[in-house]
Amino acid sequence: MIPVNSVLQVGQFPEVMQMVIDQRIVPTRFDDLQAELPSGSFDSILIRSNTKLPIALLEKLPQVKMVATCGVGYDNLPLDFLKQRGIKASNTPGVLNDAVCELAIGMMFGLLRRIPEAHEFVRSAAWSKGLFTVTTTLAGKRVGIVGMGRIGQDLAKRLEPFKVDIAYTGPSAKDLPYTYLPNVKALAKVCDVLFLACPASSATEKMINAEVLEALGPQSYLVNIARGSVVDEAALLVALQQKKIAGAALDVFENEPNPDARFLNLDNVLLTPHIGSATSETRQLMTNLAIDNLEAFYNQQPLLTEVQN
Ligand code: NAP
Repeated sequence: MIPVNSVLQVGQFPEVMQMVIDQRIVPTRFDDLQAELPSGSFDSILIRSNTKLPIALLEKLPQVKMVATCGVGYDNLPLDFLKQRGIKASNTPGVLNDAVCELAIGMMFGLLRRIPEAHEFVRSAAWSKGLFTVTTTLAGKRVGIVGMGRIGQDLAKRLEPFKVDIAYTGPSAKDLPYTYLPNVKALAKVCDVLFLACPASSATEKMINAEVLEALGPQSYLVNIARGSVVDEAALLVALQQKKIAGAALDVFENEPNPDARFLNLDNVLLTPHIGSATSETRQLMTNLAIDNLEAFYNQQPLLTEVQN
C-alpha cells in the first residue's frame, strides 16, 4: 500500500500516464516546478526521465528516500546527491524496447527512402510534373550500434531480417553474433548506418564529434535515439550542411524542446520530438513499472529495477 499523498509527483505527465497513476495511487501533484511547493510530508518522488530533478527541490524535502523515474535514462537525476542522502532510485528498463526499436527502424527507413519528402511529393501534386528521386536500399549494408544494451540488442535482432551485417561498440565485447569494434570511430568507418543507443554520461558526452562524422563519411547515415548530449551538434550541423555524411535521423537533441533552429532548414534530416517510448501501450507499462517500484519501496522490498548508483 502506498499511503495517500506520500508521493510527490513532479512535472507534468501525459494523460495516458496520469490515468494509470490515478488508478493506482493518490499522489500530491507538483506539475509546475516554478510554482510554490505544495505542503505535505513526502517519502518519495515520481518523475519522468525528461524532467530534470533539481537538487534545490530535494533539499526542501528531507524525508524523501526514493525517486521513481518513468524512463530508462536517468541522466536528469542528481545521482551524486541521491547517493549522499541515501535516496534510492528506480527506472523503467526493458518495457520500452519495442517502441524505441520500432521508432528507430522507422526513422532509418524514413531517412533512407526519403518517406516524408515522398509523401509531400504526392500531396503537393509534384508527381504529375516529374519523378521522385531514387533513394538508398538498406539490404547489403553494414549497420553499427553504439551501446549494445537492452535497446541495442533488441534493435540488432530486428535488423537481422533486413539482410544487413551488424557491428557494434561499447565498453566491452559481448557474447553476441555481431562484429565488435573497440571504439566509435572504428565503427563509424565501416558503417553505412550508425545507430546511437548508449546512455548519456560523461563518457558519452559529444562522443559523436567531427572526427567520428568524418569517419562515417558522405554515403552514411546517423540515427540518434539515445540522448542529444551524445552528439556534438555543432559538428553534426557542419557535417550535414557540407554533406560530409548523407543524413541524420534525430529523435533527441541537446536543447529540448527547442532544438537548434539550423536543423530545421536541412533537407538531409528527419526530426522527431523525443518520442521513442511515446506509444500508449509503452507509456502505460512504464508508469506501472515505476509505481511497482514505489510499492516495493513502501513494502520495504527490494526495488524491481533499481538504478545502481
Ligand atoms: P542499457 O541496457 O543500459 O544499455 C546501454 C548500453 O550502452 C550498454 O550496453 C552499455 O555498455 C553501453 N555503453 C555505456 N557506456 C558506453 C560508451 N561510453 N560507449 C558506448 N556504449 C556505452 O540501456 P537501454 O535500456 O538500452 O537504453 C539506452 C539509452 O537509450 C538510455 O540510456 C536512454 O538514454 C536512451 N533512450 C531513449 C529513448 C527515446 O525516447 N529516444 C527511450 C528510451 C531510452 P555495457 O553493456 O558494457 O554496460
